Amino acid sequence: MILKKEHIQELKNKLLEKKEQLLKESNLSHSIIKELLTEPSYDEVDYAEVSSDSYNLNILREKQLVVLKEIEWALKKIENNTYGVCEMCDSPVGLKRLKVKPHARFCIECREAFEKEQKNSR
Ligand SMILES: [Zn+2]
Repeated sequence: MILKKEHIQELKNKLLEKKEQLLKESNLSHSIIKELLTEPSYDEVDYAEVSSDSYNLNILREKQLVVLKEIEWALKKIENNTYGVCEMCDSPVGLKRLKVKPHARFCIECREAFEKEQKNSR
């Protein structure tokens, strides 16, 4: 384990706080969320071409769900002692980055490479 116990506890609290906040905002029941929470996929959906208002509401929900999934996933990783490690290159994500985004799944380098790849594949 790369992170200190007290740091993990702090980040876990942040994750739980954010989760509660998202649950309130999205008005989704815990049971529905539970059903939807599976391992997040590497594909992020492209919403750029969508413009109508009802669609935007759905997009907001979808985005909240994506974050919720990532939060749930991060909490699972804390349980499994794999939290704080980049899922792509296995190097530490870094406490600084985790404090900004506690549900981060990749280190900054991999995140950037990942985003570049996504752009190029379009
Ligand atoms: Zn990495």
